[in-house]
Amino acid sequence: MLTARYIADDKLMPWLLSLAETRQVLAPVRQGGQTLFAPLDADSQLDLEGLADASAKAALLPRCETLLEFHYSKGEGVPSRTELEVRETLPDRDAFLFGARPCDAKGFTVFDRVYDGGSRRDIYYCTRRDKTIVAALACTDPADTCFCNRVGGGPGDTDGSDILFTPVEGGYVIEPVTERGEAFLAEQPLVEAEGRLEEARQVRKDVAESMPGGDPLGGAQGEVLRLFDDQEFWGGVAAKCLSCGACSYLCPTCYCFNMTDEINGDDGVRVRTWDNCMSFQFTLEGSGHNPRNGKAQRMRNRIGHKFSYYPELHDGNLACVGCGRCIVHCPVSMDVRAIVAQARDRALAKQEHAND
Ligand code: SF4
Ligand code: SF4
Repeated sequence: MLTARYIADDKLMPWLLSLAETRQVLAPVRQGGQTLFAPLDADSQLDLEGLADASAKAALLPRCETLLEFHYSKGEGVPSRTELEVRETLPDRDAFLFGARPCDAKGFTVFDRVYDGGSRRDIYYCTRRDKTIVAALACTDPADTCFCNRVGGGPGDTDGSDILFTPVEGGYVIEPVTERGEAFLAEQPLVEAEGRLEEARQVRKDVAESMPGGDPLGGAQGEVLRLFDDQEFWGGVAAKCLSCGACSYLCPTCYCFNMTDEINGDDGVRVRTWDNCMSFQFTLEGSGHNPRNGKAQRMRNRIGHKFSYYPELHDGNLACVGCGRCIVHCPVSMDVRAIVAQARDRALAKQEHAND
């Protein structure tokens, strides 16, 4: 049975700090003028006012992680033979991710389909996923750049979460979403929510109803794909893009990475780091050829992946959760909502023209 609990505002930080004694607690904290997910300690300034500047994805897919360590040695008595010793470095820490917004938590479901897709399992991601309890925090004040409701989500949704916190008068109602969320909460010194559950539901309902509407952005796979060769369209859309990559780095659903071996003498490590498809180097081949050598091709790929190719491969699920970070932080104010709407309009206009 799943049981809702309650915690008062002034008990939250002490409880999180007590958790941090036995596992890593990641939470949105103020750092250098920004709000970022970082390990919580007694000096942390917890910030639960709105969306963090960066997504929570680094909790499960770190910006940089060592996948394995290796060591070369000469075969004993056989100098022509080189032996290689490899040691896998799997994540070994339990973690509690607190304060991810529902869009961030839903972003993990985008990763799950890719990194935990049946026969293809990324053991590093899956191990971290298994060892991390995701506790989402329902939104009470969505920004005007938030559009989770147009991409199949909502400000109180539970996709990708184990636990949902909902702010209510004086504290938070805490609802388990998964069995492991319930098992985790059952071990915590928390009181039952008793009569507060209805209040939490009402908060979520009111916030969901307060969000601006707009056409759903799903279902545009065909339209976006039909524009694949429309250089005029993509060139126009990408004209002001600076190729800075902020949109992709901050996005909770962008999951591309690069791998490099860093060698020091006979020892080395294999490192995985985030990569970014908005960068010229992303598809630069050893020969010097680059299949996406222009901003237009890179923009087409970014939008196409989120709204066409990924949903084609994954039962219509979009690779955008509507967090709006790419809108907020783009230095030239590109708006992904407008690009998809323009693509759809243009494809439909072309179709009508062809039918005339
Ligand atoms: S954040 Fe804006 S300028 Fe930077 S790569 Fe993305 S779309 Fe281009
Ligand atoms: S594409 Fe933009 S709005 Fe969509 S999930 Fe990524 S950062 Fe958020």
